[in-house]
Amino acid sequence: MSALLEAAGVTKRFGGLAAVDNVDIAVAPGEIVGLIGPNGSGKTTLFDCLSCVQRADSGDIRFDGVDIAHRAPHDVARLGMSRTFQIIRVYGALTVRENLELSASWAHVGLRRMLSRTDAATRRRADQLIEFLLLGPLRDDRADTLSGGQRRLAEIGMALMSKPRLILLDEATSGVNPTLINDIKDRLTAVNADEGVALLLVEHNVQFIAELCERVVVLDQGRKLAEGTPGDIMSNPDVIEAYFGRDR
Ligand code: ADP
Ligand code: MG
Repeated sequence: MSALLEAAGVTKRFGGLAAVDNVDIAVAPGEIVGLIGPNGSGKTTLFDCLSCVQRADSGDIRFDGVDIAHRAPHDVARLGMSRTFQIIRVYGALTVRENLELSASWAHVGLRRMLSRTDAATRRRADQLIEFLLLGPLRDDRADTLSGGQRRLAEIGMALMSKPRLILLDEATSGVNPTLINDIKDRLTAVNADEGVALLLVEHNVQFIAELCERVVVLDQGRKLAEGTPGDIMSNPDVIEAYFGRDR
């Protein structure tokens, strides 16, 4: 099967530190892949490189066969790759609906359109997603009144506005209560099943990874340490050592 996202040899340095060191990673159409690793292992930096939020120092990054390594992030979004951020990026002073509408404009047409009025199709898509993400009653509430989990759901909605084929989610469950974690899991499963959207998930919640992912990639100190099914990964001695066994 040919990959939707295919990256090879991705490297990103900060001074003397290789935050991401020669990493290969691929996601097939419709696949759900987990990306795990101890704190500081390079997960967010790799996401930044894959989504062109930061430029990799070297490496080949292809999305749907297109070389995107030197594209701008909104270009990549337009091609069909969306992402969410470890630090939630919703606009607190705007309503849930306004947050979704704004992200659509950004992905599709850039700043000019973003500053003009929202069209009917965008509004419809935002309304559908708000219902789908269980946020209907909160549609017109300011985003800064939402709980952590509700904000995560709103952020997933923002990522979905542009009808992506792949979403990169950075710690979608951190700071979220257990009930809403289940809602997020359920909604992501539905996004994947109904719209065929592939997902690449950075997660600390091992159960979440085990239940959602077909395949898991493990980073440690910027390098790929292991790759396999959740079962393989959880019983891999190198992975256990990276998490628990080393003086850090
Ligand atoms: P993770 O998401 O796995 O916790 P990060 O990608 O955030 O890891 O960080 C990987 C490494 O790169 C860490 O050592 C971190 O301190 C370092 N790092 C991340 N961003 C920067 C930056 N902008 N400047 C310098 N060092 C950074
Ligand atoms: Mg991170």
